[in-house]
Amino acid sequence: MKIHEYQAKDLLKAYGAPVPSGYVAETVEEAAEAARHYDRCVLKAQVHSGGRGKAGGVKLASSPEEAAVLASDILGMKLVTKQTGPEGKIVRKLLITEAVEVKKEYYLSITGDSTRAGLVIVASGEGGTEIEETAKTNPEAIIQVPISVNAGFRKYEGIDVAKLIGLPQELQKDFIKLLDSMTRLYLEKDCSLVEINPLVETADGKLLCLDAKVNFDDNALMRHPELMELRDINEEDPKEYKASQYDLNYISLDGNIGCLVNGAGLAMATMDIIGKFGGRPANFLDVGGSATTEKVKAAFEILLSDPNVKAIFVNIFGGIMKCDIIAEGVVQAAKEISISVPLVVRLEGTNVEKGREILASSGMSIIAAADMADGAHKAVNAAKGGI
Ligand code: GDP
Ligand code: MN
Repeated sequence: MKIHEYQAKDLLKAYGAPVPSGYVAETVEEAAEAARHYDRCVLKAQVHSGGRGKAGGVKLASSPEEAAVLASDILGMKLVTKQTGPEGKIVRKLLITEAVEVKKEYYLSITGDSTRAGLVIVASGEGGTEIEETAKTNPEAIIQVPISVNAGFRKYEGIDVAKLIGLPQELQKDFIKLLDSMTRLYLEKDCSLVEINPLVETADGKLLCLDAKVNFDDNALMRHPELMELRDINEEDPKEYKASQYDLNYISLDGNIGCLVNGAGLAMATMDIIGKFGGRPANFLDVGGSATTEKVKAAFEILLSDPNVKAIFVNIFGGIMKCDIIAEGVVQAAKEISISVPLVVRLEGTNVEKGREILASSGMSIIAAADMADGAHKAVNAAKGGI
């Protein structure tokens, strides 16, 4: 789960990290009111995406009047950043924060490190909006220091990082304190990322988190009911949101073949085989091993609500999941919503005969597939308007 910058900063602050003061505004009036607290302020679009600065979502204002003008430009705008894709994100909230004079920008984050089964600090003396570029052209400017999950963060690790990124000696103590706050936040709230970019040295020699990003591990959210209040469903793909409510593993992709599959392995294989036949999947969708008719129906509705979907490929290997349950779900979905695209179905495994019978007697027009490759081939052709 992602949250907004202002929420990430609140959390970091609660863990003792140095963050600039700020106010959240949803209207131009609120923005102007907030700006009165400062001589100069920065208006920051609150959307779940990085790269806002370069896209025009971060602006400096020298007076409340200027802040009002900028707020009316940014609020309601569709911010298209490198991370949002061409559809962009509508800006509904602004963070009005004190403008800080920056001497130097650093990058600092903590994330999971699966190869070492631990955490890793990623840091650079070349932080700021060009960090992705630095990663490509000058990767040695970005350093990594592993931390143990059991021992937690230790001071000397912080000293190593500070030295490697060329942090001034006098900021070292605060830097170590910040890393300690970030690690505690990461571990206590089951994060998948805590990132400060830029972390800055201000003109008056202080360390300050100018931007913050905190992502949580969805699988651990049940341990943190308090975090659910931070969720902003405006920022989520409505299809992914609906899927999460039905406990479906669904991820939107940019192709045109909607896939309905059981089991993550089969879902991956299905995507690969669609690719082999020259097509592109519109999604990853694993209905799981214990899907009910309800769940399958919801999955179908999600696929059909995507205007990019030009054909649907149902690829089921019935094990614990029975083919007749899938068939019933498909038929029920078809009763309520018209299936406007070609439907290719490959069923195999438990209760396959029963499943085929349900589909055959439903009166639906279904393209039956003999096996997985045949199904993928047919789905790719159908999406092209062929068959
Ligand atoms: P992002 O582009 O979405 O990562 O948004 P950031 O919060 O990182 O803002 C983009 C850039 O704006 C930062 O990298 C800073 O260089 C600059 N910026 C943001 N806030 C301030 C500020 O208070 N003072 C100064 N001088 N620059 C700022
Ligand atoms: Mn940033």
